[in-house]
Amino acid sequence: DASLAFPQATPASKFPPCEELAVRNKVRECMEKEIAPIMPKYWEKAEFPFHVIPKFAALCIAGGTIKGYGCPGLSITGTAICAAETARVDVSCSTFILVHSCLGMLTIALFGSEAQKQKYLPSLAQFNTVSCFGLTEPEHGSDASTLETTASQVPGGYILNGQKRWIGNATFANLLIIFARNATTNQINGYIVKKDAPGLTATKIENKIALRIVQNGDILLKKVFVPDEDRLPGLNSFQDLNKVLAVSRLMVAWQPIGVSMGVYDMCHRYLKERTQFGAPLAAFQINQQKLVQMLGNIQAMMLVGWRLCKLCDKGKMTMGHVSLGKSWITARARETVALGRELLGGNGILSDFLVAKAFCDVEAIYSYEGTYDINSLVTGREVTGFACFKPGA
Ligand code: FAD
Repeated sequence: DASLAFPQATPASKFPPCEELAVRNKVRECMEKEIAPIMPKYWEKAEFPFHVIPKFAALCIAGGTIKGYGCPGLSITGTAICAAETARVDVSCSTFILVHSCLGMLTIALFGSEAQKQKYLPSLAQFNTVSCFGLTEPEHGSDASTLETTASQVPGGYILNGQKRWIGNATFANLLIIFARNATTNQINGYIVKKDAPGLTATKIENKIALRIVQNGDILLKKVFVPDEDRLPGLNSFQDLNKVLAVSRLMVAWQPIGVSMGVYDMCHRYLKERTQFGAPLAAFQINQQKLVQMLGNIQAMMLVGWRLCKLCDKGKMTMGHVSLGKSWITARARETVALGRELLGGNGILSDFLVAKAFCDVEAIYSYEGTYDINSLVTGREVTGFACFKPGA
């Protein structure tokens, strides 16, 4: 289907040796050749294409910045480029990898014991096992820090009771990272729960209009026993958890950059190919203005994303920085894909063209990893010193 063809990536040999360009080229090539042609079908069916997992494994990107344990030890920018390049073709695939790599695996890498890292990370890095990240609950989305799932200490381990909602990869993940409140100390801790643990059920959330390929699940934990050795010893508060969320938020900020790039490429080609009133659509001033507005947005988004990576590299990125970046970039992506949808006319609402799928998927990015509003309030708190999450607080 010509509508799914992307301009070819510049061959790697034309670039000087550079990790970030090399990773961009390898991910782009895989996404364009192997993934792009099949995604509209899976998006329509809201099914996950399990047969592509080995293709992601071959890219050796799972684990991102994690060094050792079979992980690639990429730079922050290299990891962000993976998020963008996967999202350029399909945000669902990008989200599958991010949840597994930058939430699940990173949590184990940052807070796991040496034994846990050695036991779990090599297999996760190869996608032989898949992880998910269970924070959100039915009654606690934006206020996830007040989560109600409990962990009660018993001889040899903990009993987990509670519910989780919206958890990406939940229906098939082998390792579920579950956050729960210690019933005695009230502390938030993290637990590695196995897929087949008695008392654990994960049910797919149906009828999504965005990220239809991602298998988001409701998780029910009914007296689930987790042995002592599967509690993450380094995670003892929501502040600890924020260390993972800062990095994953930075990676999520690069997804809308990638989506916008994919939509821009599609529109650029479409406008040159389709003729109306005896001229290519690209020859009309209004269309050019829209295309250039998209391009300007993308340039600015990339610069903000790149700046965040550099701050993160230096250990200077605050939650306010990354929240501003994620919310601002996502808002620009919403504008960009909406312009792209207009430019394709009627074809802009067909899911077999990239643009309609991207248009819907951006809505999910706008709301996950902190909604636009919550991220604005995080930055607002940092720049004013006033926290205004809670009315009257
Ligand atoms: P709510 O918190 O109910 O918010 C509803 C509206 O109220 C929003 O507009 C919000 O901005 C606004 N609002 C809320 N509080 C305030 C306030 N104090 N001031 C101003 N406005 C406010 N979670 C996980 O743990 N793991 C996952 O893998 C995961 N994947 C997800 C994938 C998808 C596709 C989606 C949609 C969500 C996912 N989530 C996941 C959950 C996600 O993080 C939450 O949906 C998000 O934090 C928002 O919570 P909520 O949906 O409950 O909205």
